[in-house]
Amino acid sequence: MSNATQLIHSIPVDPLTGSISVPIYQTSTFVQEAPGVNKGFDYARTNNPTRATLETIIAQLEGGTTGIAFGSGLAAIDSVLKLLKAGDEIVAVDDIYGGAFRLFTHIYEKFGITVKYVDTTDVENVFNAVSEKTKLIWIETPTNPTLKVSDIAAIAKVAKANRCLLCVDNTFASPALQKPLALGADIVVHSATKYLGGHSDLIAGLVVTKEQELGDKVKFIQNASGAILAPFDSWLVIRGIETLHLRVKQHCANAQVVAEFLQDHPLVDKVFYPGLPSHPNHEVAKKQSTGYGGIVSFSLKIDTEEAATRFITSTHYFKLAESLGGVKSLLCHPATMTHKSIPADKRRAAGVADSLIRLSVGLEESADLVNDLSQAFEVLQKQPAASVSAVSATT
Ligand SMILES: *Cc1c(COP(=O)(O)O)cnc(C)c1O
Repeated sequence: MSNATQLIHSIPVDPLTGSISVPIYQTSTFVQEAPGVNKGFDYARTNNPTRATLETIIAQLEGGTTGIAFGSGLAAIDSVLKLLKAGDEIVAVDDIYGGAFRLFTHIYEKFGITVKYVDTTDVENVFNAVSEKTKLIWIETPTNPTLKVSDIAAIAKVAKANRCLLCVDNTFASPALQKPLALGADIVVHSATKYLGGHSDLIAGLVVTKEQELGDKVKFIQNASGAILAPFDSWLVIRGIETLHLRVKQHCANAQVVAEFLQDHPLVDKVFYPGLPSHPNHEVAKKQSTGYGGIVSFSLKIDTEEAATRFITSTHYFKLAESLGGVKSLLCHPATMTHKSIPADKRRAAGVADSLIRLSVGLEESADLVNDLSQAFEVLQKQPAASVSAVSATT
């Protein structure tokens, strides 16, 4: 059975009514026959049938034992961090999602958890950074927004040897392209807001663990802390997942066309897309995933915020917005938007140039997307960027 068929048929038909769509159990509590005697549900923070269905689907899709659905990707990440205690250390990818950096540095360092940021594309760096205090290795691959790819299997070996957990933020690849648990990771997290939801209409997060025992710990944390996903939003994620393989296939095909166009454009400095043979981690990406995703970043020859601002306010189909992974193409300027919370020197050191633009390539016809970018470059050439004032940041 193909992956797509397996996924579609892992979404159950309701045994009670035959409903082909998963029912939304909009309830806070469940009537019990006697104290503790119930139908597997007692209070909807602890468990809800709609959420439980999503959790089973994502666990199967990622090849894990336990799925846990949260109110946002960051709530999912937060619950994984709560596995740690004061004195523990995290070794994390340097090109990390801005919100994760903010959580690690501004919340968890306060509680005595330290974080070392390293370039995880070279496994040697990870090997050299881990110590006996390291309890968690945290990678995103591909990263946001410079699409660096780290070797999951190689880093998993370092984690095992050091007896610490490896968590992979699999948001950019999605399980349609990459299965970190099969490569040796212990935990996968998702911002289901992106490709899994797929329609830019919800905020959600997911955790999947390889081992049941670890899953039970995260479930305990979720019930204790309360960051659950609501029944309706759980249903929306299930609905999004139904078309995951189809959408991701088209995202990948469109992104490849866009990346190749950018690569040849005279106003472009660098293009970041793992599907280009010139990408420094192309071989690793090829080895561990079945496609290269829908995100393409590029920097301009005129490396200024003003030039980037001129470009991102000149496209028609690519809408200027935070987020990614939806049907409509989006673009953003990490330096002033998603990565604003990372200090400028750290941001630049991680390869996020002042002019870097990130595209979330949507499901439009690729020729229309290329034309849109092409006319934005013409605008950039005609009107010097210096005359444009910077757009205000929103995150
Ligand atoms: C968006 C995103 C998150 C955070 O998810 P939210 O759903 O916005 O809380 C985490 N990691 C990555 C890679 C993301 O793109």
